[in-house]
Amino acid sequence: MVGGGPAGAAAAITLARAGRDVVLVDKARFPRDKCCGDGLTTGALRRLEQLGLRPDAVASWHVVEDVWVRSPSGRTACFPFPRDRGTFGAVARRADLDAALLDVARAAGVKVHDGHAVTGATGTDLEVEGIGTVSAQYVIGADGMWSPLRKYLGVTDEAERGYLGEWHAFRQYFRDVAEPAATQLWVWFEPDLLPGYAWSFPLADGRANVGFGIQRGAHSQPTSAMKDQWSDLLARPHIRAVLGENAQPEAPHKAWPIPARVERTDLTAAGGRVLFVGDAARATDPMTGEGIGQALETGVLAAESILAGNTSAYPVAIRRGLAVDNRLAGALSRVLAHRKGARGALRIAAATPWTRRNFARWLFEDYPRAVLATPHRWAQHALTGDGAWSPRTGQP
Ligand SMILES: Cc1cc2nc3c(=O)[nH]c(=O)nc-3n(C[C@H](O)[C@H](O)[C@H](O)COP(=O)(O)OP(=O)(O)OC[C@H]3O[C@@H](n4cnc5c(N)ncnc54)[C@H](O)[C@@H]3O)c2cc1C
Repeated sequence: MVGGGPAGAAAAITLARAGRDVVLVDKARFPRDKCCGDGLTTGALRRLEQLGLRPDAVASWHVVEDVWVRSPSGRTACFPFPRDRGTFGAVARRADLDAALLDVARAAGVKVHDGHAVTGATGTDLEVEGIGTVSAQYVIGADGMWSPLRKYLGVTDEAERGYLGEWHAFRQYFRDVAEPAATQLWVWFEPDLLPGYAWSFPLADGRANVGFGIQRGAHSQPTSAMKDQWSDLLARPHIRAVLGENAQPEAPHKAWPIPARVERTDLTAAGGRVLFVGDAARATDPMTGEGIGQALETGVLAAESILAGNTSAYPVAIRRGLAVDNRLAGALSRVLAHRKGARGALRIAAATPWTRRNFARWLFEDYPRAVLATPHRWAQHALTGDGAWSPRTGQP
């Protein structure tokens, strides 16, 4: 396993629990920061629960009950999650979350070597810094947006040369934020960012993860202008009102690209013995840029295909599921790119208590985005199920 983020950890846990001998290497030492909004959708939370993560093992864990959205026209609406039925949204620093998930992997028997980079690869033989050559039956590339493994194996095709991702996003942690930012999850559809958006996601201890993302190509401003845009955004009265006058940045901002083109990406190499997952499979949602749930999903699917002895089933599963979701999300993103489209979509979403509730659940991937178009994923109670760690199932 190359990479110990959510994608690599999910694959490693799934394989180790099935009795496979799993070695995971990551160039970083954990806990390590990952530039991210730290937002966890219902889909991500359910997968974390299935993998055996306990929220109390994650220090900055904060449960979200409502999503507040401001439309480009300045109208604000609250989209509530169901109450007393488990967790439908949460925020957790990636430094805490990813380290806790690797602890689950270690407990499942995965041999974790953090602080060791993969520096070369031939098929399933890896050169690992400080260790030497590691030969494996299968290799899973979970090494993120820039995936050095893709490059070592020459999987990067012509179209991908100079590839910089579909989104580019900024993030900064703030402390001493006011009540709204400390307790509520905010999304601002600013007219000049569409189809991108700005966010403030609440963390434990009066802190918040604040940031914004823009889509490459869809935007009149180049990503090099984002630094100036950042101070301009933070000074906008409606954003300042949520963060509060005493909010202080904790550290410099960070920026990182987000890849969202799983349907156009080679997912395997070396005759099916190397599989790419998570950001290395370009698997984030093209509408929101969320990728933790997708990283967990692709990691588990890749591992299951190895356990079944049929890795060609992995790209097929992606084409029949996630790729359909992402095509729908891409189409909606084109609607959101225009002020009128974004305004209209949010007006419909906020029209009644029923649409508000269901919009929150759809946005947070409580069920697959394109569930209606993929009957093979229909399951009993799919649209009415509980959140993760539901009190009704007796989980913490
Ligand atoms: C600013 C921003 C905000 C975001 N907000 C959200 C959000 O709120 N919610 C959400 O769901 N998603 C969000 N995303 C997307 C999300 O962060 C990613 O989709 C997710 O981290 C992908 O997980 P992964 O396991 O595939 O990769 P990563 O988490 O990037 O892990 C890859 C790992 O590979 C390791 N690695 C790299 N090279 C090597 C090497 N040569 N040898 C060994 N190891 C190596 C790295 O050290 C790293 O630990 C955001 C992204 C950005 C940039």
